[in-house]
Amino acid sequence: MPLTTVAADIDRLRRTFDSGKTRSYEWRISQLEALLRMLDDQETRFVDALAGDMHRSEVEAITADLAVVRNDTTDAIKHLKKWMKPEPTKKPAVLGIGAKVEVIHEPLGVALIIGAWNYPIMLTLGPLVGAIAAGCCAVLKPSELSKASAVAIERSVAEYLDPDAFAVVQGSIPETTEILEQRYDHVFFTGSPAVGRIVMAAAAKHLTPVTLELGGKSPAIVAADADLAVAAKRITQGKFFNAGQTCIGVDYVMVEEAVAQELTDLVVAEVKNFYGEDPKTSIDFARIINAGNFDRLVALIAGEEIALGGENDSDQLYIAPTVLVGVDPQAPVMMEEIFGPLLPILTVANIDEAIAIVHEGEKPLALYVFSKDKAIQEEVINQTSSGGACINDTLTHLAMPEAPFGGVGESGIGQYHGYDGYLTFTHRRTVVKRTTKIDPDVRYPPYGPVKGKIAEKLA
Ligand code: NAD
Repeated sequence: MPLTTVAADIDRLRRTFDSGKTRSYEWRISQLEALLRMLDDQETRFVDALAGDMHRSEVEAITADLAVVRNDTTDAIKHLKKWMKPEPTKKPAVLGIGAKVEVIHEPLGVALIIGAWNYPIMLTLGPLVGAIAAGCCAVLKPSELSKASAVAIERSVAEYLDPDAFAVVQGSIPETTEILEQRYDHVFFTGSPAVGRIVMAAAAKHLTPVTLELGGKSPAIVAADADLAVAAKRITQGKFFNAGQTCIGVDYVMVEEAVAQELTDLVVAEVKNFYGEDPKTSIDFARIINAGNFDRLVALIAGEEIALGGENDSDQLYIAPTVLVGVDPQAPVMMEEIFGPLLPILTVANIDEAIAIVHEGEKPLALYVFSKDKAIQEEVINQTSSGGACINDTLTHLAMPEAPFGGVGESGIGQYHGYDGYLTFTHRRTVVKRTTKIDPDVRYPPYGPVKGKIAEKLA
């Protein structure tokens, strides 16, 4: 994409923003409703695109990619009037009679939203919900790796949303580098921590604020007292949903020694229950996005003890759901975010050792703890940090429309979904309104001892 095209898009969007068109409640609602209509009318288009990109099952396409955006949009429509109201603010006595203090919400302007490929609809249109609710214009840059979804997004945005306010641009690294040279009022990026740094550096040139939704190694910690049958089921889903290509997916398990074998056996059994004896034939098991990631994942299996899986087929970009046991915390598979269907199970002597291993790494995007004991649940939550967490579950914290979603430290900066998504694209502007009819002299110099004392009391 030549730079002139992006520049022309941004210019058009900026003119729209400056015209004030996007500020009204009515315009925002009309666009949110159009987005909802798009998701309903074009469900098949999106489901087909996701199947084409990574053999995503229809159920996983609808429950993850589409439902999260749909619920977030419905939530925004329901609450927008309340969100847009100026915030009531206490007035200090010094302002006197006739004064008013308000925190009003103004849209930031023209936003850039860069999406990742693993949930391309959710990660591109999800942030857009907040941008629309806030009254912003937006340039969307879907990932080039999920090509079919990128095309579906471009077509759908053109068909349903206001062309004066939204543009979809396509491209890989060179194009995105050019896109990032432009000036925006907010950059919302979903992807890897490495590219997050590039995006932040580019935004810094214009002092543009960023939201970075990144990744990391999200652990599941299993205590000896856990309901192992349920834990195994939820960990198996948390790992192998979308073939492990999920930012909040379980990256690895740490289980207390006493129940390590039992948990491993249960996970192996659940993989077979979920995907059958030959997962390659399962309509519910996805493929790896591209050859680069396929090769990287196959290399991570090398040298590890395999409890289940390990088979792969480069022609189909298929890697079987693979369970690795006896994994050394220093093994290559523990040195990077796996982002594929490999589940290392590490044995720990106790929960403190698991917490110590979490502390050795960067703050993860998600953390899961399985235990029936409230004290253990609290110990793990209170002694670790992560973007979000579940107790006795995996993945579900992402799908809470009224709760913030985002990372912390290496796993991200900023949050979205619901009111947090709206606030991400909003500037909270304090406005003091005073009358000129009353103008006590006490605030002005020369202060002198009497005025000074009064001024100090009022301050
Ligand atoms: P990525 O960082 O490679 O790419 C993300 C986006 O950045 C794409 O649109 C891509 O075109 C663009 N990009 C890639 N290299 C670039 C460069 N050098 N300069 C400018 N732009 C560039 O990430 P990915 O492979 O698409 O996604 C996987 C990563 O994203 C994982 O780390 C995963 O955990 C993370 N992720 C996070 C979330 C979240 O919500 N926090 C969700 C999904 C994925």
